[in-house]
Formats: sequence, C-alpha cells, structure tokens
Amino acid sequence: MVFAVQISDLSKRYGSLTAIDHLQLEIPSGEFLGLLGPNGAGKSTLINCIVGLAKPTTGEVKVFGHSVRSEPLKAKSFMGFSPQEVNVERFFNLRRTLEFQGGFYGLSKARAKDRAQEMLEQFGLVEKAKEQFFRLSGGMRKRLLIARAMMGYPKLLILDEPTAGVDVAQRHELWKYLSHLNRDGTTIILTTHYIDEAQALCERVGIINHGRILELGSPAKLIDQYCESKIRVTIEGPMDLSEFRDFPKLSINGNEITMPTHSLGPTTERLMARLTEIPGRRVLDLNLHRGNLEEVFLRVTGKTMAQEADEPSETTVAKL
Ligand code: ADP
Repeated sequence: MVFAVQISDLSKRYGSLTAIDHLQLEIPSGEFLGLLGPNGAGKSTLINCIVGLAKPTTGEVKVFGHSVRSEPLKAKSFMGFSPQEVNVERFFNLRRTLEFQGGFYGLSKARAKDRAQEMLEQFGLVEKAKEQFFRLSGGMRKRLLIARAMMGYPKLLILDEPTAGVDVAQRHELWKYLSHLNRDGTTIILTTHYIDEAQALCERVGIINHGRILELGSPAKLIDQYCESKIRVTIEGPMDLSEFRDFPKLSINGNEITMPTHSLGPTTERLMARLTEIPGRRVLDLNLHRGNLEEVFLRVTGKTMAQEADEPSETTVAKL
C-alpha cells in the first residue's frame, strides 16, 4: 500500500506543555481524512509538523515516503497547505499571490500564470484578481488560501479549518470541489469544526485530544461503536409499560416509546402490531435514530462541538 503520510512516535513539546504526545498515524494515498478535536487538542500542531512548519521534539513524519525533516523540499513538493492563520503577502494582489506560489512549486512563469487564472476561475475570484487579500470577505479569503494550496497540483492537500466563516452555499460548492479532487486521487486531510462536513466528506475521522488520537475510523464505524441506535414512536391513545414487557429495554416517556434497535426489522414490526391492536390507539410518528458524529465526539471527548465553537481557542490566546 502507498502511504501519503506516515507518522511514527511524533511528539511536540513547547516547554513543559505537550502539544503532541507520541502519536502514530498512517494515511493511505487517496484517503480523505478528517481531524476533529477540542480547541487546544493539537490539531494545528500536528498539521504544522506534517507540512514542516513545526519541528517535532521526537519522531518522524514521512510524506509519500520522504522524511519532512531530512528531505524537506522533496516532501513539500507533494503538498498544498491552506493554513488557519493568514500568511499572505500584504501588498500582493490575488493574481500575484497565486503566481508567486506557482514559483515555489517550480512552475514556469507562463504555467504559473495559466494555473493562477484557472484557480481564480475555479474559486469564483476572477473579479477580485486585482484586489489585495485584506480587502476580501472572510469566505473569499478562505477560497483564495485553498486556490493557493492547489497551485502546484498537490498529491496531498492539507486544509486547516477551510470553511470557517464561509456561508452555507459556498461551503457546499467547496465540498463538491474537494470530493471531485479526492475522487481523482488527491489525498486530503482536513480539520473542521463542522461535524456535518466531516460526516459528508471524510472516509475516516480521527478524534484528537491532549495530543493523541483517541479514535480513528469511518464515521459509520464510530457511530456504530459509540451510539445506540433506537426507534422512537409517537403514539396517541392509551399506553402502559406492562403491555410491552417482552420488548427488552423499551421505555415510555409521555406519548413517546423508545426502543434500542439497529434496524427496522421483525421486532419493530411486532411492536407496531402491538401498538395498533388496541382500538383508539394510533401511531403518529416513527423514526429510527442512528446517532451521529456529534454524539461520538461528545462520548470520546466529553464536550459538544457547540461548546467548542463558543470557547476561545487556547492557541489563539497563546499566539496573540
Ligand atoms: P488545536 O489546533 O487542536 O486547537 P493546537 O495544536 O493549536 O491545538 O495547540 C495545542 C497546544 O499547544 C495548545 O495547548 C496550545 O496552546 C499549544 N501551542 C500551540 N502552538 C504553540 C506555540 N507556538 N507556543 C506555545 N504553545 C503552543
């Protein structure tokens, strides 16, 4: 198997603070991997170690077989990176920003020019080509950072919070673009605060806390492992728990019945038959709740993503 990224025994310490703690991770070529974790979990530090912006305290990162530490230029030639923090030359306009980046990837002037035009069109930024980055809206800035990351046709695209502050329609546009890229073979790593983004895009999701990967798997596998699927039936009419003793773990709350189950199978059918056999009793609503990554995140980290979004980032505070 070809690996886009191989991380072995990676640690990063800032003084007495351990941001990454003996982390192991292998990302096969072609995978779409999401990284989720509370603020301060170590996501950006991990990404910075992959792209060569942070120097690991221990361990090694290889990108397509090349060590980021000992062969940095070779390793970086495979990567495009869209950072969370803006690092764009202040006085360049957008076209120049993109063309300049093309130079880093060894594109000739003519190719960099063509590629920049292609990226401006792809990301709906042609009309802003002569603007400076700092005159753009938040959503446009994010798009420009991704366009810039794509200048060198990267085999590995790394996106740190690519859709923070981007409106819903543009976010969906971006999802389509990223899905296409991934289908065409680009390996993508993304950190996100949007659970629906991870669930919609990622083949595997890693949940990080305290510098370690606590869980790693497909959204379906994690949901299966951490969430209890259940059916909920809303009823109108008389109901008594004693009628349902033969249904294990069934509970009644007001006019709602809840029962753990993995699928709408024979047990559900038997329950529906029981519910409708009493005259005057009607089923108003039935749904199967399968759980979601939000619940997985809560179980694994003890926090909700909403709490996360409200909390100031420790990192931001540390870096100010
Ligand atoms: P996340 O991206 O998951 O929010 P970070 O990787 O930014 O987390 O931060 C992990 C931990 O490392 C935090 O406690 C943060 O304060 C600390 N940290 C990150 N960068 C630095 C730095 N340059 N100097 C000191 N501490 C840092």
